[in-house]
Amino acid sequence: MTDGKKAPTPTDLSPQTPDALEAMLTQAMSTRASNAPAVPTVGQRCGLIAIVGKPNVGKSTLLNALVGQKISITSRKAQTTRHRITGMRTVGPTQYVFVDTPGFQTRHSNALNRSLNRTVVGAVNDVDLIVFVVEAGQFNQADAKVLSLLPANTPAILLANKFDLIHRRAEIAPWLKEMQERHNFAEFVPMSANNARDVERLFGICDKYLPEQPWMYGADELTDRSDRFMAAEIIREKLFRLTGDELPYTSTVIIDKYEEEGNLRRVAATIVVERDGHKGMIIGEKGEKLKRIGTEARHELETLTGGKVFLEIWVKVRSGWADDDARVKTFGYE
Ligand code: GDP
Ligand code: MG
Repeated sequence: MTDGKKAPTPTDLSPQTPDALEAMLTQAMSTRASNAPAVPTVGQRCGLIAIVGKPNVGKSTLLNALVGQKISITSRKAQTTRHRITGMRTVGPTQYVFVDTPGFQTRHSNALNRSLNRTVVGAVNDVDLIVFVVEAGQFNQADAKVLSLLPANTPAILLANKFDLIHRRAEIAPWLKEMQERHNFAEFVPMSANNARDVERLFGICDKYLPEQPWMYGADELTDRSDRFMAAEIIREKLFRLTGDELPYTSTVIIDKYEEEGNLRRVAATIVVERDGHKGMIIGEKGEKLKRIGTEARHELETLTGGKVFLEIWVKVRSGWADDDARVKTFGYE
């Protein structure tokens, strides 16, 4: 007769006592130099790591910290990331290729959200490692939806982000046990994406899952996205950050012109919204809001390109674009 208890698996991460939990957290959070040896080994190592999780858990913040440069825009608003963003970092003989994804959208089923979800599903296949990001101590239906998409045969790390917001560590033990029952995670990493030491430690943790194979990118490359693409993303970030919650997330940015003349860039962009009322919100009183969006975006673009930028932004109404598959495609979504 069995006692009905699940046999512990070799990768059982659930600590049985508070002391065991404390020891585990201490070990998991201790600063450890990257496992990568300083001198290159026989072969190069290179692999794809998908960063997945529901909206707003800190995936893009993590990617930017891992790459060491802002390549994925972030904001307080939930649907900020809309594209598959690849960022890489080469440490010693190992090249880590990270793929940031939009959070899986469950609330509305329009053409835009269907496209975002296809991007997520596409990203988790054919990777060497999955980093499943959740907010430490939390798990709801939206997390469950993303977890259900993970292929069973790819190793997955449970990254409990925003650990800085956890004040009572004892509460983590039952949560962690529950998480381990939901999926056979290879490792548990409690951390904060905005803590540099935590981020560096992650390289040493991911290292062993990447196969020995030639690098896919140059040692200094940080992203496969163009400056033109980054221009649209940066404008969209300022738009999201500088407008209130009344502005629906179905506004987007398209680049009409991106010209380079030596160290100078001439950029013309259009912000597309769904309603006349939204247009007013973006332009603001006497054009103040739009001016600020433009100024902040221009400064950031100048930092990115290391040169001067002339930026013009227009606002246009295209009602129903987010419900229209063809329009969603022409606006650059997969
Ligand atoms: P994404 O939607 O998963 O890509 O999430 P973002 O990277 O855009 O981050 C969402 C919000 O969480 C932003 O306001 C971040 O500053 C914040 N955030 C990210 N990581 C941490 C963390 O480790 N601790 C805290 N306190 N906030 C974080
Ligand atoms: Mg994001």
